[in-house]
Amino acid sequence: MSNPFENALNQISRAAAVRDFPPEFLAKLKTPNNILEKKLTITLDNGEEKTFDAYRVQFNNARGPYKGGIRYHQQTDLAEVKALAFWMALKTAVVNIPMGGGKGGITVNPKELSVGELERLSRAWTQAFAEFIGPQKDVPAPDVNTTPQIMAWIADEYGKITGDTSGAVVTGKPIENGGSEGRGTATAQGGYYVFEALKEKLGLPDQCRVVIQGVGNAGRYAARLWSAAGHKVIAISDSKAAVYDPNGLNVEEVIACKDKERSLEKCPNAEIITNAELLELDCDLLIPAALENQITQENAANLKARVVLELANGPTTPEADDILFSRGIAVVPDILANACGVTVSTFEWEQNLKNEHWSEQEVFDKLKEIMVREAENIYAKSKELNTDLRRAAFIVALERIEGAMK
Ligand code: GLU
Repeated sequence: MSNPFENALNQISRAAAVRDFPPEFLAKLKTPNNILEKKLTITLDNGEEKTFDAYRVQFNNARGPYKGGIRYHQQTDLAEVKALAFWMALKTAVVNIPMGGGKGGITVNPKELSVGELERLSRAWTQAFAEFIGPQKDVPAPDVNTTPQIMAWIADEYGKITGDTSGAVVTGKPIENGGSEGRGTATAQGGYYVFEALKEKLGLPDQCRVVIQGVGNAGRYAARLWSAAGHKVIAISDSKAAVYDPNGLNVEEVIACKDKERSLEKCPNAEIITNAELLELDCDLLIPAALENQITQENAANLKARVVLELANGPTTPEADDILFSRGIAVVPDILANACGVTVSTFEWEQNLKNEHWSEQEVFDKLKEIMVREAENIYAKSKELNTDLRRAAFIVALERIEGAMK
């Protein structure tokens, strides 16, 4: 599998081939400011001790405190966390919020831990990195497999260590612990605003057939939003299998089944296909909402979607980008399409610092304004430079980071 950090570096070079940037700036941008690695040892419920590898990569803070989630996944490693941290720095620049980019992770399959073990592990992560994070330094958040509950444990542990109980050290908290309205659905909601802003420009029909890879936070809310807006969600996957119905799935039934059975394979009333088959389904809109490296040079020629909208981080490799571009399949890049999670996170941070609580309407109004503006800006840039939306988004972000670094 290709290394996500190498793909990320490759993406910078490709954007810099379209619009010149000073070599010193690009060199600086390709190296994270800080790479923090720790071993976390916790006591399991059976009394045994177990040690986990943990990371925080602080990529760039020219535009504000480092910002980005913490991922709990068995495949998480330093290359992945570095790539994700880099994408965060670009993402916060794309939506022009006053944050830099960072990311954390633990190499663990959280589904194998009890709630108590998960809490001890999350508190151990906080203890290990407490001196490096903070509301004006580095503000973590949820990512794959990390929940509002985990963010509440981190905020609590940080408060115990430092005395700072504002909650602004971490975002994505439950509402009752200082979380923001709208944060849970933000990633999908923002993707939807971007989709609406670009739908006509990208030649999509009024009613789209939508395929979604992933049924985590981003994937499930996307399924709900698109189907509530009258589009037809024809397939959804989890890590093991996908459910498919060309006439449209009952989204709530699929989500209820996933939560009950823990596996889509056990869902009634739909055909079961593989993740590989799902990616190649005939559809208008393909929404990868799971992990990196899903659309590659192996399958890009077989995709039948008209448009790919990336709610996951890094789902398309640079080689696949070229194949899709030459086939006229537009890719709405992650650093634009999924930037709403971090945007509402930043609203949460702001509310915590000012001791305010904004209504859901206020949050969504602000969010929509940002997303529509930046989607149109990036689309115009891609036309102006005659390039794809990813290079255009990179160029917009790099210009803003360069401005801040000067
Ligand atoms: N993990 C999310 C992302 O990849 C959100 C990060 C945040 O809210 O800081 O964008």
